[in-house]
Amino acid sequence: MTTDLPDFAGLLGADRVLTGARRTNGYLRDFSSYSPILENAPSTTTVDAVLRPRSVPELAAVVSAAARHRVPMTLRGSGTGNHGQSLPLQQGIVVDVRDIAGVLEVAPGRISVLPGTIMRDAEEAARATGQELAIMPSSYRVATASGFVCGGSAGIGSAAHGDLWDGNVLAVEILTAEENPRLIRLEGIEAFPVLHTYGTVGVVTRIELRLTPARRYEASYAVFEDFTVAAAFAWDLVNSELRTRLVSLQQAPLVTMFEPVADLFRPGAHAVLILAEAARTEELAGFVRVREGMWQLWPEEPHISEFPFSHTILWTKKAEPESSWLQCRYADDRRGFLEQVAAVSTRYPGVLVQHVELTKGLVVKPMGIPMLRGLPDHEGALDELMNYCRSLGMRLHNPHSCVVEEGGFVGEVGALLALKARTDPHHILNPGKLGDSFFTTRPPATRPPAE
Ligand SMILES: Cc1cc2nc3c(=O)[nH]c(=O)nc-3n(C[C@H](O)[C@H](O)[C@H](O)COP(=O)(O)OP(=O)(O)OC[C@H]3O[C@@H](n4cnc5c(N)ncnc54)[C@H](O)[C@@H]3O)c2cc1C
Repeated sequence: MTTDLPDFAGLLGADRVLTGARRTNGYLRDFSSYSPILENAPSTTTVDAVLRPRSVPELAAVVSAAARHRVPMTLRGSGTGNHGQSLPLQQGIVVDVRDIAGVLEVAPGRISVLPGTIMRDAEEAARATGQELAIMPSSYRVATASGFVCGGSAGIGSAAHGDLWDGNVLAVEILTAEENPRLIRLEGIEAFPVLHTYGTVGVVTRIELRLTPARRYEASYAVFEDFTVAAAFAWDLVNSELRTRLVSLQQAPLVTMFEPVADLFRPGAHAVLILAEAARTEELAGFVRVREGMWQLWPEEPHISEFPFSHTILWTKKAEPESSWLQCRYADDRRGFLEQVAAVSTRYPGVLVQHVELTKGLVVKPMGIPMLRGLPDHEGALDELMNYCRSLGMRLHNPHSCVVEEGGFVGEVGALLALKARTDPHHILNPGKLGDSFFTTRPPATRPPAE
C-alpha cells in the first residue's frame, strides 16, 4: 500500500482493506467492456486500496480520513455500470458499499434502504407488504440501490412509472467529502443532482424509493412482420389500460441473437417483450391479434428481465463481438416516434438495429439502446449516422464516455456543480467524471498533494 494513505486498517480492520493487484484488479472492471472505446480506456488505472466498510459510521470514518489526506475516492456497488462509472480514473481508494446493506423501513408508497442493498432484496421486502418497486434495473438481481440511483436510469417498471427523474427516487441522504462529513438529506427534485452523476457530488448513505401496489405479472411476447407495426403496437400498449411493467421493442434480428431463447423466434421476427398484469392476459392477446401479430407466453426460464435494457447488448455482443451500441431518445409523440423509427429503418437497414424501451412517466419517453453493426469506417461513419439521427430530432446519448455531461442523461449541470462545490471541496469524489472531458482525463493523473 502507498505509505501516505491514512491508516484504513486501523479504522476498519485489516480484513476490510484489500491491496495488491490480485485482490484489487476485479474492482478495475465493470460492464463498460460493452464499448469498444471504453473497453481499453481505463485499463491503465490502479488503486491503492479497496475498502469494505460494514456500516454508515465506518463509511463516514473512511470519508473523513480520505478528505484529510486528499485521497481520490470512488464508490462502488456491484460494478454493473456500462459507462465505467465506478472505475477510478485517478489512483486512490475504491469503497465497496455492498456490506452496508439492509432495508430500513417499508411504509405505504416508500421503502428506505442502505446503499449496498441489492435491488432484488428491496423488491422482496416491498412485496412482503403488498407493494412493489415502481422501477428497478433489469440487473436488479445483483445491482445495489446506490449504484442504481447514481449510475442507472430506468428499467423494469419504467413502462408504467418512467425513469429515475419521474418521482421514483423520493429522497437520498449523502455524506459530504469533508474532514468532518455532514449528512445532507435531499428530497424529491433536490435529489436530482445525485441521479446518474456517478457519485461525484456525495456519498450516498440512504435511498428512499417509490413503491406502488404489487401486481402479479405474466411475461409474454408479440411478434410482427413489419417493424413499424411492432413499434406502433408497443407505443399503444404502453399507453393502454393494460398494466405493463415492461414493453421492450426489438427489431430483427435482435431476438434471434438471444441465445437461450433464440429458437422461439423465426428469422426476421420483430418482437415486443412484455410484462403485463396476469389478470389482463386475454385482453393483451386480443390487443396483439387485432394488429395481426402473433402472441405467446414467455417460458418460465430464463426470466424475461434477462433480455431488455442493457441485457440486450449482452446478448448481441455475444453473438457479434465486433458490434457496438448507442443510446438515444426518440420523439415523445406517437407520430414523431413512428416517423423516426421508419426513417432510421430505411436509411440504416441492418446497421442501426433498433431496440427501444418504451418508458412512460408523465409522457412516453422512448429510450433507444440500438445495436450498431457493420459500420464501414468506425469514426466517420458513426458521426454521419449520429448526425442523421439528430436531423430527425432524436436526442443522442453517448454511452462511450465515462464523463457525466458526455453521457447526455443529465443535461444542464450548473446546479450539480454548485452542489459539488459545497459537498466535495477537495475534488476527491470520483475525479475526472464531472466537469471534465473523457478525452482529456483518460490517463491516470497523479494524486493532489495533501495539505
Ligand atoms: C446486463 C445489464 C443490464 C442492465 N440493465 C439496466 C437497466 O435496466 N437499467 C439501468 O438503469 N441500468 C442497467 N444496467 C446498468 C447497471 O446495472 C445499473 O445502472 C445498476 O443499477 C448499477 O448498480 P451497481 O450496484 O452495479 O452500481 P456500480 O456500477 O457499482 O456503480 C454505479 C455508479 O454509482 C456510484 N455509486 C455506487 N454506490 C455509491 C454510493 N453509495 N455513493 C455514491 N456513489 C455511488 C459508483 O461510483 C458508480 O459511478 C445494466 C447493466 C448490465 C450489465
